[in-house]
Amino acid sequence: MINVLFASGSPGYDDYEAPLRAAFEAAGLAVNLSPEMDPAEVEYVIYGPSKGQLDFTPFKRLKAVLSLWAGVETMVTNETLQVPLCRMVDHGLTEGMVEWVMGHALRFHLGMDTHLQGQDGIWRAGSAPPLARERKVCVLGLGALGSACAQALAALNFEVHGWVRLEKSLEGVTCHHGESGLAPALRAADIVVLLLPATPATTHVINAERLALLAPGACLLNPGRGPLVDDDALLAALAGGLGHAVLDVFDVEPLPADHPFWAHPKVVVTPHIASETRAVTAAQVVAENVRRGEAGEPFLHQVDRDAGY
Ligand code: NDP
Repeated sequence: MINVLFASGSPGYDDYEAPLRAAFEAAGLAVNLSPEMDPAEVEYVIYGPSKGQLDFTPFKRLKAVLSLWAGVETMVTNETLQVPLCRMVDHGLTEGMVEWVMGHALRFHLGMDTHLQGQDGIWRAGSAPPLARERKVCVLGLGALGSACAQALAALNFEVHGWVRLEKSLEGVTCHHGESGLAPALRAADIVVLLLPATPATTHVINAERLALLAPGACLLNPGRGPLVDDDALLAALAGGLGHAVLDVFDVEPLPADHPFWAHPKVVVTPHIASETRAVTAAQVVAENVRRGEAGEPFLHQVDRDAGY
């Protein structure tokens, strides 16, 4: 029997137990799965950040930690974690993110708010939006989520640019990389989508200087992580030429009720719901990684602890 500890409060064991048992069985693995276990016996930990920082020192037989979340910024600095850490790449999570990004990008592109809020008897002729091909979209981060969003936007004919750390090519997307690639990616962008991980290198990647590069009236979508954006710079830009921001993630979550973002006429706050790991598809990824661990094969989606993602 392989001992697997489920260490996540939210999402919880009740949601995951049946999908995990089915996925382990389908993978031909005999697993002892439990939310409570003697640490000395645990071989794999399925982890959700809601459980807080774990001290892995007593986990003497541990082979890997399998995160249920894509973002692992709270785990990469855990020095008691000495075994491979794998993050979640789940096609349910990816599909959800594509839908959130497309929905908000199209809402801005089509100027839907003008008509949703303007049912006032005024016939606003001549307010047809430009075509998508006339809008530049910039996606910062072209990983599992960013590349799927970039390609979905490109499929609608948006002029899509992306920015990554290491050189990359992606069909339909003009890719930029490294420090020198950021300004060309952002310059004159009408819509910016942030799908970078939170690392020391990405903190406040969106600051006053970068916001000033965007097209007048541009829209910022942040489903990545709060620290990617300098909030004071964003509020200042919104007081000027920046058109709109949709923010799903924040430095402090839940976003305090008195935060200026809530009441800002150019900001929409969503409560970290852009996408979530889906139990059935995520369980298959977890089971595959346990199978790989037992077979001595490389894990899927192993985190580079030095890069921080
Ligand atoms: P990946 O690790 O697959 O992709 C990260 C991307 O960011 C890569 O393209 C990487 O570049 C790029 N990147 C990282 N650091 C830098 C840097 N310093 N400069 C330029 N590019 C950089 O992550 P995912 O796509 O799976 O997820 C992205 C983030 O989305 C997660 O970290 C998480 O924070 C957030 N998220 C938010 C959710 C929500 O509901 N709001 C749900 C799920 C995730 P390269 O390709 O060169 O490595």
